[in-house]
Amino acid sequence: MSATATAVQPPKVRQTRMLINNEWCDAASGKTFPTVNPATGDVIAQVAEADAEDVNRAVKAARTAFDAGKWAKTTASKRGYLLNKLADLIEANKEELAALESLDNGKPYRDAIAADLPLTVACYRYYAGWADKIHGKTIPINGPYFCYTRHEPVGVAGQIIPWNFPLLMQAWKLGPALACGCTTVLKVAEQTPLSALRVGELIVEAGFPPGVVNILPGYGPTAGAALARHMDVDKVAFTGSTEVGHLIMKASAESNLKRVTLELGGKSPNIVFADADMDQAIEGAHFALFFNQGQCCCAGSRLYVEERCYDEFVAKSVERAKKRKVGDPFDASVEQGPQVDEDQFKKVMSYIEAGKKEGAKMLTGGGRVGSKGYFVEPTVFADVQDNMKIAQEEIFGPVMSIIKFKDTADVIKRANSNMYGLAAAVWTKDISKAHAIANGVRAGTVWVNCYDVFDAAAPFGGFKRSGIGRELGEYGLQAYTEVKTVTVKL
Ligand code: ADP
Repeated sequence: MSATATAVQPPKVRQTRMLINNEWCDAASGKTFPTVNPATGDVIAQVAEADAEDVNRAVKAARTAFDAGKWAKTTASKRGYLLNKLADLIEANKEELAALESLDNGKPYRDAIAADLPLTVACYRYYAGWADKIHGKTIPINGPYFCYTRHEPVGVAGQIIPWNFPLLMQAWKLGPALACGCTTVLKVAEQTPLSALRVGELIVEAGFPPGVVNILPGYGPTAGAALARHMDVDKVAFTGSTEVGHLIMKASAESNLKRVTLELGGKSPNIVFADADMDQAIEGAHFALFFNQGQCCCAGSRLYVEERCYDEFVAKSVERAKKRKVGDPFDASVEQGPQVDEDQFKKVMSYIEAGKKEGAKMLTGGGRVGSKGYFVEPTVFADVQDNMKIAQEEIFGPVMSIIKFKDTADVIKRANSNMYGLAAAVWTKDISKAHAIANGVRAGTVWVNCYDVFDAAAPFGGFKRSGIGRELGEYGLQAYTEVKTVTVKL
């Protein structure tokens, strides 16, 4: 663990209540829950705990703002203006927000300020630009008619987000919803409520009318489930585990058939051919797996390496993992902070045990770092077989599994023999191999000679059990609009 002085001071927590109708409220029950600093295990603050009654209040506010409130009368260009204003306010407070993110989630401050904050600001700006460019078509149908389409907002959106990129996931949800003219009730993850609530203050400051954005901290089976089954919610957007994704879909089916978009788990194949630039591929694969403590739904967690370069790749990847600096997230030289909470820590450790038991070769790591907080040593397994648990299931931690493959046909078949299909990558100098992988692998995103390249303009989402629908880009607007056909007799 790093013992150097911290570069950035943890921030002051300003907001711990829920936002309903532009007012900061306690839970109807009066209940609160603790949010914990994963680097120490200490409670940071008590936060208002939303439950079904608070969901009812928030949905009512969102419904009113959508049906009859100021939002219904706000022009498209004004919506864009407000989103830009929010982006400006987030940018002006970026150090505070990055520090809050780091404190509550455990990610290194240097990652939060270099990645989470700029991507968050860019996402709001991108969708600000779309707000007055969302429109239908005129269609030359048969007969004396004038036919056109309108892209209308879907209504009240229920949005449920995870804890791994709290600010960014909030932006991915609010940006397109608000650009399209929806109102929203956002349920933030119970592990990381603080940054979303601070953004809530900035939303009010920016001038969004009451009821447009409502933010509820609380637990999944209570507040989240109440939102997913609410009869006055028109659409639910969920990012989280595949297991809960099934529940969200079921809740929609059993209530009002609300529109559903899901961004779920992954077990993404990251494929390295022997002709790749080895240093680039090793560093790229390290980043693909270990970034954000391994807590990325698209982590390159099935690392397929061609047999001709396997031994060299494994040896150098182990060297790199050994050098990875783990410690205080506020220390500027630290690359890896703690896992987000004790549950995740235990889950990761149990996968490490499973890897050892099933006969994979653990070449570095495998243990806890320090005696407090939820730090896990960067861990590398070699000689991993496709059927092992660590090669099949999402670990969501700093555990690399390196698997050997023979040729292109072999690796495509094996890459596709998994229930997930979120992302994939290939490292090669051969353009034919690159395209063979890009076309052959069933995944929503394929990176060639790079990894985790995200942009608000590029759609993201999963094939198979990694989800339904796409977020970001122009495609991301579809989830928040209904197409209306109007036919006028001439
Ligand atoms: P993880 O296992 O990574 O925490 P989850 O899918 O459990 O992922 O959580 C992602 C989000 O879904 C969180 O905001 C969580 O509170 C919420 N959630 C969990 N269970 C439910 C549920 N039954 N209904 C609705 N939302 C839920």
